[in-house]
Amino acid sequence: MPTILVTGGAGFLGSHLCERLLARGDDVICLDNFFTGRKQNIEHLLGHRHFELMRHDIVHPIFVEADQIYNMACPASPVAYQYNAIKTIKTSTVGMVNVLGLAKRCKARVLQASTSEVYGDPTVHPQTEDYWGHVNPIGPRSCYDEGKRVAESLCVNYHQAHGIDVRIIRIFNTYGPRMDPNDGRVISNFITQALKGEPITVYGDGTQTRSFCYVDDLISGIIAMMDQDQTIGPVNLGNPGEYSMLELATEVQKAVGMTTKIEHRPLPADDPKQRCPDITRAKSILGWEPKVPLAMGLAKTVAYYRSQLGLAAG
Ligand code: NAD
Ligand code: UDP
Repeated sequence: MPTILVTGGAGFLGSHLCERLLARGDDVICLDNFFTGRKQNIEHLLGHRHFELMRHDIVHPIFVEADQIYNMACPASPVAYQYNAIKTIKTSTVGMVNVLGLAKRCKARVLQASTSEVYGDPTVHPQTEDYWGHVNPIGPRSCYDEGKRVAESLCVNYHQAHGIDVRIIRIFNTYGPRMDPNDGRVISNFITQALKGEPITVYGDGTQTRSFCYVDDLISGIIAMMDQDQTIGPVNLGNPGEYSMLELATEVQKAVGMTTKIEHRPLPADDPKQRCPDITRAKSILGWEPKVPLAMGLAKTVAYYRSQLGLAAG
């Protein structure tokens, strides 16, 4: 039975990943510093005999044994990653070095959770993996975007210099149960606002687009990428269905069954205007593509937030 280390395992994606790995019979070590992660996300796993929780910060060297490492540790919400920008940079750079050093000692395979943010505010649409991106290196998102770009570079260089077995995925906006209701991302904001009968806050004119992947689909893609021997990546993982934020607001209102008013707020600096993955590579190499339509994923997510907010089922 392989031992699998999931850094950031108490976060939104990490907790779903731990759950899926345990279900297939792996030994899982969940490592987290609980910056944006929550014990609530993994409390149902604590009694599992193949699950171990380790409070640790990847900015410090990591001493465990593992056969595979999923490096998910890093705040993902713009509000969270800009809260302490220098720490975000350290997590993606110093943390990545520590993870790769651990992999070198253990001869483990490492999967790095990179992001569509490496494309910045893209001038190519949809984004293919060979597009180099359009990132402002000194803007408010740079701590995250440039950190993740360095992390990709570290993976490729450790692979070339030391033969470390790396896998790089670029994750596009993903949503689902266990996203922190207060993390400031668009789906958690819109759903909690609609459920509370508050105005939905659309930043800017709401014509900017994003593509939303349901968490279960994404986790299948992540594991498929780790378990294949064909490529180190990068491989885009996301749902190519593209929505403007105004369209998303309408979809959320439908899922909640309530129409609240739209309130426009200033658009944050450097907010990408459009984002949509080209998933040709994921389809051909992993045989993967998302299956859950937005309406179905939103319904499941709304049910989760209802229970979080102590509201009766809709
Ligand atoms: P999240 O904030 O819910 O989870 C991140 C987890 O990492 C949290 O549990 C947090 O406490 C932990 N963490 C942060 N810094 C750490 C450190 N220095 N040491 C140890 N643990 C640390 O975010 P998420 O949505 O689950 O994202 C997980 C990963 O996927 C991140 O690397 C993120 O950049 C990447 N990603 C996510 C999305 C998305 O839409 N969810 C999109 C692109 C990339
Ligand atoms: N957004 C919005 N209202 C909100 C939160 C976000 O209109 O309450 C917009 C934000 O400006 C961006 C998009 O939704 O254009 C996605 O934002 P999110 O923070 O979820 O992630 P991003 O893709 O920007 O990293």
